[in-house]
Amino acid sequence: MRLVVDLNKCQGYAQCAFLAPDVFVMHGEESLIYNPRVEQEQREHVARAVAACPVRAITVDGLDAPGAVPAGSAGESPDGR
Ligand code: SF4
Repeated sequence: MRLVVDLNKCQGYAQCAFLAPDVFVMHGEESLIYNPRVEQEQREHVARAVAACPVRAITVDGLDAPGAVPAGSAGESPDGR
C-alpha cells in the first residue's frame, strides 16, 4: 500500500506517530517524516492513524475500513480487465 500525507494539512499533532510509530516519526516539533510504503503487517496501525488524524491529512491507497477486507484479499476480480 502506498501512503501519502498532505503536509499542507498536517498540523503536527503526532497522533499518527503515536499510533503507528513504525511508519510515522516526528522530527522536531512539527515536521513529520513517514514511510510511504506500508507493509501488510502495519496496516492496522496505519488505519488507526488515518482515523485519528484530526485534519484527515493521511491518505492510503488500498486501505479500507479496518476489518472490512479479509487479509490477503484486495477485492480484485480474477478475470477483470
Ligand atoms: S496525525 Fe495528522 S496532523 Fe498529526 S502529525 Fe499525523 S498527519 Fe500530521
